Amino acid sequence: MIIYSDKLLPRCLNIFFYCIPGLPMSLIVVRPKLRDDRPLLEHELTHKAQFDKQRWTYVFKMLFNRKFRMESEAEAYAVEASYDPDPIARVKNGALLLSQITMLKITPSDAERVIMRHFSKLPVRT
Ligand SMILES: [Zn+2]
Repeated sequence: MIIYSDKLLPRCLNIFFYCIPGLPMSLIVVRPKLRDDRPLLEHELTHKAQFDKQRWTYVFKMLFNRKFRMESEAEAYAVEASYDPDPIARVKNGALLLSQITMLKITPSDAERVIMRHFSKLPVRT
């Protein structure tokens, strides 16, 4: 389910995937001003697909496994970029955001390489 609301998001986030392993349904909350940002929504839908494969394991790995989180986020940023008319700008922005996640301990240029590795495996969307 997708909900458009400013109230269910912390100030630092524009979109969030609330995954609760015990519930049959998950929730994606998007700021209303970003309702038409398809690439951003595709990023969160990628996390939903990742979650659906592993459920509880996904949640714990995202919190405590640096490599798993890096690869999961890189895949999501690659998918996001693949839906953007300017995919390289999206990749660079994603790499910058990943480098700001303390637990990942990665530079923007290294994050960009990981995202591009995922991006290169995706189909071309026109
Ligand atoms: Zn993400």
